[in-house]
Amino acid sequence: MVMNVSIEPKKILILGGGTAGWMAANLMIKAWGKYGFEITLVESPDIGIIGVGEGSTPMLKSFMDSIGLDEKDWMPACNATYKLGIRFDGWSTKPGFPRYFHPFPAQIDDYTAPAFYYNSLARRNGLDVEGHPDHFFLNSYMAEEKRSPFAGENFPFTLLYGYHFDSGLLGEYLGEVARQRGVKHMQAKVTDTTINADGRIEAVIDDGGRVHKADYFVDCTGFRSTLLQEALRVPFEPYAENLFNDSAVVFPTPRPEEIAPQTISTALNSGWAWTIPLTSRIGNGYVYSSAYTTADEAERELRDFTGVGDSNEVEARHLKMKVGRVTKHWAGNCVAVGLSQGFIEPLEATALLLVQLTVQNFIWALETGNFTTEKRDWFNDDVNGRFEAVRDYIVAHYVVNSRADDGYWQDNANNDKVSRQLYDVISTWTSGKNLTDELKRQKNKDYYPTMSWHCLLAGYGIYPAKEGLQGRDAEKHQAKLNEIHEFIRRCSLNYTPHMELLKSQERRA
Ligand SMILES: Cc1cc2nc3c(=O)[nH]c(=O)nc-3n(C[C@H](O)[C@H](O)[C@H](O)COP(=O)(O)OP(=O)(O)OC[C@H]3O[C@@H](n4cnc5c(N)ncnc54)[C@H](O)[C@@H]3O)c2cc1C
Repeated sequence: MVMNVSIEPKKILILGGGTAGWMAANLMIKAWGKYGFEITLVESPDIGIIGVGEGSTPMLKSFMDSIGLDEKDWMPACNATYKLGIRFDGWSTKPGFPRYFHPFPAQIDDYTAPAFYYNSLARRNGLDVEGHPDHFFLNSYMAEEKRSPFAGENFPFTLLYGYHFDSGLLGEYLGEVARQRGVKHMQAKVTDTTINADGRIEAVIDDGGRVHKADYFVDCTGFRSTLLQEALRVPFEPYAENLFNDSAVVFPTPRPEEIAPQTISTALNSGWAWTIPLTSRIGNGYVYSSAYTTADEAERELRDFTGVGDSNEVEARHLKMKVGRVTKHWAGNCVAVGLSQGFIEPLEATALLLVQLTVQNFIWALETGNFTTEKRDWFNDDVNGRFEAVRDYIVAHYVVNSRADDGYWQDNANNDKVSRQLYDVISTWTSGKNLTDELKRQKNKDYYPTMSWHCLLAGYGIYPAKEGLQGRDAEKHQAKLNEIHEFIRRCSLNYTPHMELLKSQERRA
C-alpha cells in the first residue's frame, strides 16, 4: 500500500452489515484508521443478511492474515473447517471420469504436476496414458484421507487452503473485531438518498429521519443494491445467457463423526448440490434453474439426495439469485461491494474473493489517485475483468458436461453463448495444443491458474476415445504412476489428521 503522509481524514459510510459490509469495514479501518478516517457501518436488522455462503478460496486466509486474525481464534467461533479443494461428482459420463477433484495448489505439486501436464497433452494427441488429475495432486489425495493442511516442522512444505464456515457467525465475528478497532455501528434502515448535480451521493437518510453525510459511500446492501443500482441507477448486466441457474434451496443436516476437508459438488437434474462440512452441521444447498424445475421439485430432489426424505425436522429455505454484475462498481463517490455489485453462482465459492479484491483495489485506487477519480476507470475495468474470468471458468463446467439428460444438461452443453476467451481455451484443449501457452497468451493466469483449467478439462475426461489411443510401454507407465502415488501418499503422512486439528482448536477456544 502507498504511504502518503498527507492523507486528509475522510468520512466513509458503509451501508449493509452482511459479510461484505464487515469485510470492507475491517479492511478500511486497517488501511485508514491510522489517518483518522471516520468509518461508520449502518445496517437494518429488519432486512437482515442473506445468511448463506459457507465456502471460500485460499484468498480468505490472506484476508484474515491481512487484518491480523488468527484461525485458532476465529475458526472455532465460526464452526469452521479446512478446505483443500472441491470434489465434483457426476458432471461427466465419460468412462473412468465419474468424479474429479479441483485441488488448491501445494508446493509438493512441483514434483508431480509436470507428469500430469505431460500426460494430458500426450493423451489429447492420441497416446494411451493416465490423464485423470486425481492421480497427481497432494491436496486431492489428502482430502480423501481427511488430512489437515498442517505438517510438523520437519516437513516444511506448504499448501494453499480455504475454509468452510457458518456465514452468520463469521459476519458477527468480523463485526465485533471491526467495532473494537474503531468502526462505528448503527442499526437503522436507509429510506432515502440525496444526490448532487455531479452524480455524487451527499447523504443517506434513515427511517428515524437522521441524515448521514460522508465523503464515500460503500454499498453492501446485498441484491437490493440500494445505493449503486437503485439511487445512482448504474445498470446491471445479467449473465443469464451463460449461466442458467437463478434459484437455490438450502437446509442443514447433522454432520458425520469424521469431516473431510472438501466441498462436494454433485450434479443433479437441473443444477447441482453442495455438501459443506462445518463442525456443527453439514450445509446442503441445491442451485438450480427455475426454467427447468419448480421450487417444490428442487426441494424434493435435495431431500432425496441428502436422504432426509419428508422429515419435518428439516426446514428448507428458498432463495432467488440475481446472477451477473453491474457495469460500473464505482460510480461518483459510491462503490458497491458484495451481492450489490454482482454475483456468480457459488460453484467455486468465489464471492468473498471478489469482495476482498474489490475493497483492496478500491483502497489502492483511492490512495494512488490522491482521493480523486483518476484510477476509477482502471478500477472498474479490473473488477469487470475478474468477474468475467470467474464467469468463464464456471461456464466451462456446464458447456463441457457430457450428461445425457434431456433439457437442462443438454441445453447447457449446446449453449454457444460463450466468450471468445472460453471458446479459445476449449478449442486449444480439444485440438491437442498446449493449454498453458494459450492461457499465457490470454493473460488469464491472474484469475484461474493453468492447474485449475487442466484439472477441469481432464477431470471431465475430455480426451479422444480410449479405443483410438496408441498403446505405450504399459509396465513402465504403471511404474511411473505407482512412484507418483507412493510419493504423494508418503508426503501426506506428515500432515495432521483434520479432526485431530479441529478438536485441538475447540479445546483451546
Ligand atoms: C445460494 C448462495 C450460495 C452462496 N455460497 C457462497 C459460497 O459458498 N462462498 C462465497 O464466498 N459466497 C457464497 N455466496 C455469496 C455470499 O452469500 C455473499 O457474497 C455474502 O454473504 C455477502 O453478502 P452481502 O454482504 O453482499 O449481502 P447480505 O448478506 O444480503 O447483506 C446485506 C446487508 O445490507 C443491509 N441492508 C440492505 N438494505 C438496507 C437499507 N436500506 N438500509 C440499511 N441496511 C440495509 C441488510 O440489513 C444486510 O445487513 C452464496 C450466495 C448464495 C445466494
